[in-house]
Amino acid sequence: MLDVVFVVAIVGLAAVAVALWVRLRRLGAARRDLARRLGLLVDDASRDVDSSIDEISSLLLAQTSDNIALAGALDRSPVGVLIVDHDATPIYTNPAAAPYVGGRHGDAVAERKIAELAGQVSLNRVGAEAEVDLYSPRRRRLQVEAVPMSESEAVVVFVTDVTDQRRVEAIRRDFVANVSHELKTPLGALSVLAETLEETDDAEVRRRLSRRLMDQATRMSSLVDDILSLSHVESGTVSDEPILVNDLLREAAGSVAVAAAESVVPLEIKEADPGLRVAGDRRQLVSAITNLLDNAIKYSRWDKDSLPEGPVLVEAFEDAGKVVIRIADHGIGIPEAHQERIFERFYRVDPARSRATGGTGLGLSIVRHVVLNHRGDVAVESNPGRGTTFTLVFPALSGAP
Ligand code: ADP
Repeated sequence: MLDVVFVVAIVGLAAVAVALWVRLRRLGAARRDLARRLGLLVDDASRDVDSSIDEISSLLLAQTSDNIALAGALDRSPVGVLIVDHDATPIYTNPAAAPYVGGRHGDAVAERKIAELAGQVSLNRVGAEAEVDLYSPRRRRLQVEAVPMSESEAVVVFVTDVTDQRRVEAIRRDFVANVSHELKTPLGALSVLAETLEETDDAEVRRRLSRRLMDQATRMSSLVDDILSLSHVESGTVSDEPILVNDLLREAAGSVAVAAAESVVPLEIKEADPGLRVAGDRRQLVSAITNLLDNAIKYSRWDKDSLPEGPVLVEAFEDAGKVVIRIADHGIGIPEAHQERIFERFYRVDPARSRATGGTGLGLSIVRHVVLNHRGDVAVESNPGRGTTFTLVFPALSGAP
């Protein structure tokens, strides 16, 4: 009996041992499977981490190069850029804005304006701008613009030197005002003359009025011509053809021949070497010489009753690779104090006389622009009561025609 129990127990134990062995094997396989899966998971995760690191580093790289590019741009910017905190202390300043931090004279005035505007914008969180005039060390006008930064109390301030811009705007405004004024005078005269003409039957009076009407119309048309001519030469469009200097002299002299004859002013031309040439815009060059000749004839006579003291002399020659063109008269001359300003638009030494002789006040501005367009030079020498000489200098065109 004991033997039977013993055998049963042994068999039972063996069965348990086999079952345990089978379990253990299964567990082993499951563990290996788990390990394999974990491995795959870890691989995936590490691949993800790697690609995330790659992405982050390329992003960082891009941001760093953006920052470097931004810093470079700010360093070179002509606009002053400052970042100031809530109590107007500068946190960042680019080189163009450096003078406005702890500067002296005018820069100190700009610094106060910047602090005032930044304080106001930091408080209200709304952008604001102002302009400030500085008088030392030189006269300037600055535009200061302050913008709140999002998510901080700081303010970005842009400081731009608008001196030139404002000067050009003022010149343009003056020009428009001058043109309107210049046009208004003959227009007013035209309407008065036309009214009077309508009311009179006297043939002689009508003739006189008609002549004056024509004079005013001519004056307006010269003004419009000169404005168009000035705007053309100011636009800087210049053709670049080779031109014989003597052709320029002849063409200009031809267009003032009638005026010279009417004013009884002899015109003497000393031509240049026949091959002497310039490169440039024929129309512009002829118009510059014509304007100078026209003035020389107009101002050769002291008044309408006097005779000219001498001829108007035009000469051209080559000097050290330059073409020199001289126009000299024996007329009323230009007082020294005015010589600097006669090239300005509408500047006249004697406005009444200029208008009486049909002047527009634009001739010498046209001359100056033509000279600039041709990389040349213009100079004036004058003795009041003795006469005036204008000298034009252009680069000569070398080489065979
Ligand atoms: P304008 O149409 O009045 O002649 P310009 O621009 O040609 O205008 O000349 C400007 C001013 O310069 C003239 O009003 C005149 O006072 C002076 N001027 C120019 N050329 C001469 C000259 N040859 N002799 C004397 N004054 C001159």
